[in-house]
Amino acid sequence: MRMPDIIRKKQLGKELSREEIHFFVSGYTSGSIGDDQAAAFCMVIWFNGMTNRETGDLTLAMAASGETVDLSSIPGIKVDKHSSGGVADTTTIVLAPLVAACGGKVAKMSGRGLGHTGGTLDKLEAIPGYNVHQSMEDFVRIVNACGASLIGQTGSLAPADGKLYALRDVTSSVDSMPLLASSIMSKKLAAGSDQILLDVKWGSGAFLPVLEDATELARIMVEIGKHAGKPTKALVTDMNQPLGNAVGNALEIREALEILRNECISGALRELIVLLAVEMLGMGEVFSESSKAERAVLGALESGRALEKFQEMIALHGGNPRVCTDLSLLPRAAKTFSVKAEASGYLTRMNTYDLGIAAGMLGAGREHKEDAVDPAVGFWMHKRLGDFVEKGESLAEFHVNHTRNEAAAVRLFLDSLTLGEEPPEACPLVAERVE
Ligand code: URA
Ligand code: CA
Repeated sequence: MRMPDIIRKKQLGKELSREEIHFFVSGYTSGSIGDDQAAAFCMVIWFNGMTNRETGDLTLAMAASGETVDLSSIPGIKVDKHSSGGVADTTTIVLAPLVAACGGKVAKMSGRGLGHTGGTLDKLEAIPGYNVHQSMEDFVRIVNACGASLIGQTGSLAPADGKLYALRDVTSSVDSMPLLASSIMSKKLAAGSDQILLDVKWGSGAFLPVLEDATELARIMVEIGKHAGKPTKALVTDMNQPLGNAVGNALEIREALEILRNECISGALRELIVLLAVEMLGMGEVFSESSKAERAVLGALESGRALEKFQEMIALHGGNPRVCTDLSLLPRAAKTFSVKAEASGYLTRMNTYDLGIAAGMLGAGREHKEDAVDPAVGFWMHKRLGDFVEKGESLAEFHVNHTRNEAAAVRLFLDSLTLGEEPPEACPLVAERVE
């Protein structure tokens, strides 16, 4: 088999065999196929798609490209959670300690920023000392000690996804249904949990902006999970505006802490966290009724038990737990300023994709695979869809460290917001459930 022939076959819109898909995945994993041919492969799939059969085979080949994690020494049903990628989405960072505080077990491997979206690992690394690189023994030990661990995907877990994820990030080939489904599900299948909860985003900041496409992605992934023997559920949720108000790594940790400290008791971010926590506790059979799970979740936030769990979890990962009570320990940008509205009106639409790109331009994301992110930069938004904005009013506070892209980022931010005379119709937070 030759890689140029496989790429050509997809260019002509034909269906690849399981063997051809395996040839690509094992060759790219071992290095006999390089980034050049892999980039071409991703791009031709981006243009021509894959059948569900091809997507299933790609997922299984990627899941089998490395080791699988053995979580059997952690008692109970382990439920993994994964988002298809969004902006200002720090749910995982709150969820892990929150679910653990309610008696669940969370052993989760997270990813870095991808395209315009943020990544849990980049956010965790804004916490001084937090080490996302843990051995499998330490991963299991931490979950058994405190109920939750959030770490990076180790090189040995679904290495095909590890490489493709970084390649797709910088070649504009993230937003393809088969590439999204296989990326997410391959590592979930290899990561050792018993069940999977998916948060599939739709809207202007999602990889698949159209609700029907996102729902289709959710169905494909639920089907893949079922075939692989892992009960999988998906919620299709609103990403027509940033989920929270903070965009940028340290700022998002700060927002996560506001929720864990119970200082922020409303808003879409907290609401989704509570919903997902209730789902995870139900799937993990920690509670038999969702009303009881919800009471436990709210109780853990109000009593400070979820915050204590987070402190415990940070310390076990080598981080400084005092960030939870002293926000000045988080990285800070050299300067902050507010960006003001140029006109008055109702905020009717946000181009959330561009908001993510604007944060990336400040240094919160990557342009090249080897780039480091700047944990301190980003912006804190002051307005949500449907809010009335007065000309001259602050729309956001920007946190900036170097000025090269500052003006362009501010311009993109302002152009991402549309003002109108009438408030828009509100979107429900959860549009669909797929089980
Ligand atoms: N999350 C992933 O793990 N992979 C993707 O492709 C998108 C979101
Ligand atoms: Ca992600």
